[in-house]
Amino acid sequence: MGEILNGNLIRDQIKAECKPRVIQMVAKCGRAPGLAVVLVGDNPASAVYVRNKTKTAEELGIHHETITRDASLSTHELLAIIAELNARADIDGILVQLPLPPQIDAQKALLAVAPEKDVDGFHPCNVGLLSTGRPGLRPCTPSGVIEILKRSGISIAGKDAVVVGRSDIVGKPMAMLLLQENATVTVCHSRTHDLPKVCRGAEILVAAIGRAAMIDENYIRAGAVVIDVGMNTVRTHEEAERIFDASRLADFDKRGSLLVGDVKPGDMARLASAYTPVPGGVGPLTIAMLMRNTIEAAERRG
Ligand code: NDP
Repeated sequence: MGEILNGNLIRDQIKAECKPRVIQMVAKCGRAPGLAVVLVGDNPASAVYVRNKTKTAEELGIHHETITRDASLSTHELLAIIAELNARADIDGILVQLPLPPQIDAQKALLAVAPEKDVDGFHPCNVGLLSTGRPGLRPCTPSGVIEILKRSGISIAGKDAVVVGRSDIVGKPMAMLLLQENATVTVCHSRTHDLPKVCRGAEILVAAIGRAAMIDENYIRAGAVVIDVGMNTVRTHEEAERIFDASRLADFDKRGSLLVGDVKPGDMARLASAYTPVPGGVGPLTIAMLMRNTIEAAERRG
């Protein structure tokens, strides 16, 4: 059985490193780093994400504000909110929670966030800084994956890494970060020919697809490190039967749904030398990296 890479422990390490930096900032600048979260509409999942983010900010002594607006907000109104936050000296990080309601031009909104306050790392300026290897704010989930690998003593340089998924939020920045760490990187997507074969070439396999347990034993090379970024909810017994062993199936029957990644858990545990479980792997890192980005943005701004 492969080693479990415990994301909760690594998250706690990162949070513990954040605390003295906040205290130092207060001592030096007379204020804590400031994070503003803009939440538009009433998507229940978004509300939970935002609550978890602000709870962690609170715990670390980071000043936080949530600006809540109803789903009828216009692009123009959202841009005005962002402009105001851009201009505020006490706000270092601005996060516009996605998804936005359909009438809002999400691209315009993300472009409007000042790059030095873009703690999600989604602004094209920060994407450019990442791809040219210059310092800048990095997307939280993929930089969390790099932290997991490094802090678990897994060397990246020279390794064959395969990233499945090419989204702007996870897949592409993940590939750039692995490249920066000197891995030899292959990026796969829905048009990739013979995906199982390409994946079996991976010494480090990162799955960021959004398809429950799609990556099974046919995709995993024995001894590979497998990072499962996926977060999917299994809701039918039939699907649960395909994915889980007897004990987790019993869990499913008790709860009626279960969280699963993009990798089949039993196959991953059996074949990988090390792997991130779902839940408790990559997920916990995302918020920790957001906090670290907020502190970094504040330190840069002084
Ligand atoms: P997207 O839907 O934006 O991207 C999915 C990617 O997977 C696309 O590039 C798509 O290819 C590719 N893909 C889809 N189906 C296949 C297939 N059958 N074969 C090969 N490639 C395929 O998702 P995200 O990147 O936003 O998220 C990916 C997963 O990570 C989701 O489960 C999400 O919930 C999770 N996630 C987890 C986070 C965490 O904190 N743990 C944070 C963010 C996301 P194509 O481009 O060709 O369409």
